[in-house]
Amino acid sequence: MSETADALPADAAGALRQVLGEDRLLLDPADRWTYGYDNSRGQSLPAAVTMPQDADEVASIVEVCRRFRLPLTTRGRGTGTAGAAVPSEGGIVLSTERMDRIVKIDPANRLAVVQPGVTNTALQTAAGAHGFFWPPDPTSADYCSVGGNLACNAAGPRALKYGTARENTLGLEAVTGAGKRIRTGTSTTKGVVGLDLTRLIVGSEGMLAVITEATVKLTPLPERIATVRAAFTDIGAAARAVSRIMAQPVVPRALEFMDSSAVALVRERTPGGLPAGTGSMLMIEADGLADHLPGSLAALAAAVGNDGLLEWRATTDPSEAKALWAARKALSPALRSIAPVKVNEDVVVPVSEIPALAAALEALADRHRVRIVSFGHAGNGNIHVNLLGTPADRPRLEACLEDVFREVLALKGTLSGEHGIGTEKRRFVSLEIGAEELALMRAVKSVFDPDGILNPGKGLPEPA
Ligand SMILES: Cc1cc2nc3c(=O)[nH]c(=O)nc-3n(C[C@H](O)[C@H](O)[C@H](O)COP(=O)(O)OP(=O)(O)OC[C@H]3O[C@@H](n4cnc5c(N)ncnc54)[C@H](O)[C@@H]3O)c2cc1C
Repeated sequence: MSETADALPADAAGALRQVLGEDRLLLDPADRWTYGYDNSRGQSLPAAVTMPQDADEVASIVEVCRRFRLPLTTRGRGTGTAGAAVPSEGGIVLSTERMDRIVKIDPANRLAVVQPGVTNTALQTAAGAHGFFWPPDPTSADYCSVGGNLACNAAGPRALKYGTARENTLGLEAVTGAGKRIRTGTSTTKGVVGLDLTRLIVGSEGMLAVITEATVKLTPLPERIATVRAAFTDIGAAARAVSRIMAQPVVPRALEFMDSSAVALVRERTPGGLPAGTGSMLMIEADGLADHLPGSLAALAAAVGNDGLLEWRATTDPSEAKALWAARKALSPALRSIAPVKVNEDVVVPVSEIPALAAALEALADRHRVRIVSFGHAGNGNIHVNLLGTPADRPRLEACLEDVFREVLALKGTLSGEHGIGTEKRRFVSLEIGAEELALMRAVKSVFDPDGILNPGKGLPEPA
């Protein structure tokens, strides 16, 4: 926890008060601390918290920050796990919580227009009333904001079939670090005019611009969903099943994986639920027209085959499906209760390399004497690798983490699939991205944000 740049120049406070009045400018330290953390557990005290209601107010706040050279950290709901919403260099937090209007749901054009502070679930509920959904489905959906989803390119199980935030965004309105109001993309599902600034801003973790409105792509809700819990003898059998599923034509809506440590944790929490000898588990979902589902399930079952399979339990009953999913969804919070320190990574490898990653993780757990629990979105090769320990284990956890990243890169993977870089992974980025490419990225950042006020100290490492 750090206390940085606590003092706000009186002139800057006056300028912000003119924009926001007294109510939407928080200067009391007790209020400010509550906007200084995220789910990385990092915390830092901002000099002020601002709560704009529209893009004009956002542009005015950016102007004040430019004038007084104040760092500006945009904050959705602070559920990010990489420290990206922590105002680590002090300055101003811009909270989007008052920008929470659903501007329109447009079924004919399969799109929605929303302000950034709308929660993911609020958007799903509004779209659902028209028979649609927005595919990004992070487990934090009830609380996290669409702006945060876009800035982190968030996803979840459904990304396998329907894509991440990036594939489900048509256009943006935003204010750059230079204080310019911009509009990117289109309201159409095709378009090839100019450079694709939408895809550049999505996933940029608040380093290029503050998103003030998003036009997102909606997908019709499926008529029916089938959920399968498949239990396997060991991790290798489950990983081979994943590769066979991905090599056939039926794309599952979700294909989630749990290693033996994750299975053990599930057993502790829900005894008696899994067959004896379960060493790994897959959660599989298929969706579509009700008439087509039996055929899809049969194709998936054929791909899984009998190789190490102990149980194939399928249901189309929503409450039974919810019970089957409960174990998977409880994993992340359960990990917090078994170890005071949890280093939670979300590496990605090509699907065919999941068995190699699983073997490498077992070897690293032994070598570094670290407990590793892995689960995640196997169909995308996106595995949440959790290194667990106590504060005294930190040096071993850090050494193990660097080795995990090196193994992932050797398997042609990437350091983060959905959580982003923030402050937590910044020092590892140059393991994956070359010096030339990093120089280009820094040049892009300086065009959007010439004074370097937007989320300084995040994402891109300092030049060597
Ligand atoms: C229990 C739990 C489960 C989770 N499960 C998943 C999961 O399944 N999949 C997944 O992808 N993530 C998951 N996450 C991570 C997190 O919820 C997502 O990254 C989410 O998108 C963050 O949204 P937020 O509103 O909380 O953003 P914040 O944490 O507030 O911010 C995250 C980043 O976005 C930037 N930002 C926010 N709003 C804007 C804006 N309007 N303009 C520009 N930049 C902005 C911030 O500056 C910061 O860099 C989980 C987190 C928790 C706590």
